[in-house]
Amino acid sequence: MISKYSNQKEKLNIEEINQAAEEIKKGNLVLFPTETVYGIGANALDEKAVKNIFVAKGRAQDNPLIVHVSNLEMVNKIVDNISPIEKRLIEKFWPGPLTIIFIRKSKDIIPDVVTANLDTVGIRMPSNEIAKQLIERSGLPIAAPSANVSGRPSGTKVEDIISELDGKVSYILDGGSTDIGLESTVIKVNENKIDILRPGKITKEQLEQVAKEVDVDKHVLGQVEKNEIVASPGMKYRHYAPNTKCMMIYSENKSKLISEINNVTKELQEENKKVLVLGSKNNLDKYISKNKWNMGETLDEIAKNIFTLLRKVDKENVDLVVIEGVGEKGLGLAITNRLIRACAYNYKKIE
Ligand code: AMP
Ligand code: MG
Repeated sequence: MISKYSNQKEKLNIEEINQAAEEIKKGNLVLFPTETVYGIGANALDEKAVKNIFVAKGRAQDNPLIVHVSNLEMVNKIVDNISPIEKRLIEKFWPGPLTIIFIRKSKDIIPDVVTANLDTVGIRMPSNEIAKQLIERSGLPIAAPSANVSGRPSGTKVEDIISELDGKVSYILDGGSTDIGLESTVIKVNENKIDILRPGKITKEQLEQVAKEVDVDKHVLGQVEKNEIVASPGMKYRHYAPNTKCMMIYSENKSKLISEINNVTKELQEENKKVLVLGSKNNLDKYISKNKWNMGETLDEIAKNIFTLLRKVDKENVDLVVIEGVGEKGLGLAITNRLIRACAYNYKKIE
């Protein structure tokens, strides 16, 4: 089966978004853009439809989905006590790339398959116009994880993911490249403290404007030990990873960073091995590897490009991909979190 395709790049085609909304109402899956990455969505109230998302992605049943809403009425049907800090976060960052993990109502309308039986639920109000219209026109909260087969890099444009998802969804809404390119920031408020479970475009620095204490969960950059309990099930899983071996190298000292990347390149070349370097635009001409790709100049550009680049590296047939780390400030934390996983924790930090 080929999915129905709708090009929304030039101009919103409301007629076709209405058709996609009908598919949601019928319990079918729709591929749609958000400002972060593409989502593969289903009616969040329909257990059977949601189960099909897990099948389409090959996603572990214990990894809960984010519920996407278009208004606060939808939130109030799922959650009853919104704390003052949560209220401020909603006012400041919604619609936008922030997922808040709330305590569920004791009897809410969301089936357990969405939340993987947790007593909490992750909710987000996207700002992307196509996403907003899809939710609003279906009149339903939409459960949607990132549109990719589990373990693979998330999809930031339809061309990158169509081969793995075509036929698994009823409707594809193509809105071109997503603005941000990385998934939402996932947070949980614990009394007066905000815990970052997954970093994203809304940074720690921005969250500090709302709560004095903002903690980054230790598993954002650290590896999960076997049988360790995690705050967010998604932390346990292999993510964003090409099949080719990757290594990230970072130093705050730019000349040390460049010489370490060049040393690793030289060592491998001496063993007749092939290397591909992914570097930031400003450093690229300093790398000795002939095979090198530009990740972008700013953190925003790198965030936008990184998943497409990670999806391409397997076609290069190299022995090692050496990736320039970007540090942990601002959006750098989110990029580093994705790259560490893409590299399966093969990460060298030079002081
Ligand atoms: P994705 O669907 O690929 O955007 O991933 C969603 C992320 O949000 C995963 O890492 C989930 O584990 C996390 N998540 C969703 N709901 C919850 C929840 N109730 N508690 C903790 N983490 C959650
Ligand atoms: Mg994902």
